[in-house]
Amino acid sequence: MKKGWRWKKRLLKRGGIRLASVAASVIVALNALPAPSSASAAVPAGQDAPKEHTVAVVIDDFGNRMKGTAEMLRLPIPITAAVMPFLPTSQADAEAAHAAGREVIVHLPMEPVKGKPSWLGPKAILTALSDEEIRLRTEAAIADVPHAVGMNNHMGSRATADERVMRVVLQVCKERGLFFLDSRTSYKSVVPKLAREMGVPLLQNDLFLDDVYTDRHVGGQILLLKARVQKHDRTVVIGHVGPPGLITSGQLAAAIPALRQASVRFVKLSELLSPSAPYSLPGAKLPGSASVDESEPGAKVPEESPTSR
Ligand SMILES: [Zn+2]
Repeated sequence: MKKGWRWKKRLLKRGGIRLASVAASVIVALNALPAPSSASAAVPAGQDAPKEHTVAVVIDDFGNRMKGTAEMLRLPIPITAAVMPFLPTSQADAEAAHAAGREVIVHLPMEPVKGKPSWLGPKAILTALSDEEIRLRTEAAIADVPHAVGMNNHMGSRATADERVMRVVLQVCKERGLFFLDSRTSYKSVVPKLAREMGVPLLQNDLFLDDVYTDRHVGGQILLLKARVQKHDRTVVIGHVGPPGLITSGQLAAAIPALRQASVRFVKLSELLSPSAPYSLPGAKLPGSASVDESEPGAKVPEESPTSR
């Protein structure tokens, strides 16, 4: 039997009612579904729905009992939990996120341009590895994170710029029905080009929330998000458990009511997938530092990082 996309299957499981509120482009993507009969039920005839801005909040670095884990999962929005494989609580964190109704993706450790191998954790994807070893590690990572419907990169400024390496990783994603979220730790990422060419559903990070671990900075990034949603219908932001975990979860919790007031609708990452229209152009510079995710979960920000304080 032909294997469908796993995210699609999960949405299918949850039924048509839920899909009524999903953006039209996503409904196009789910063309195998029966048309939801209640699609227009929420909007009286002749009246336009208020313009909605969809935002997916991805939280990286789950899997190692990191600071802020419980607080992030308690946020009253559908965050997506990016769980690192092969760590002491990889499976427990993925299960807890899933039990809390949160989407789970694999947070694949990948080689950065700068940094120590120890920051990456076990079985990272390194550019010196053979195609076969990259395939084995990617498959093992997926197997180690239950309920994963997608994948994004932890660090990876060197690996995501390497076409040979990314071709293998994306091929495994394709075979397993996982979408890929480019965390965009490198401006030289080949992921957009390859994903298009290979037909792998792709999303891209638009904003790191916590590249500096202070309330002031995270609050400022949330203001950038607020400004961004006025111009963009779909936005992906990434925050972290670990050193900034309590700051970021606190700032998010405080900002959610105002963001909703500004017509932001928080969605799971997979709800932003639209194979026909990539929502974000590759290569644009991210606000703030792109090297935020280039450190070990729980470690200090590496000395080389321009974000270190
Ligand atoms: Zn990470």
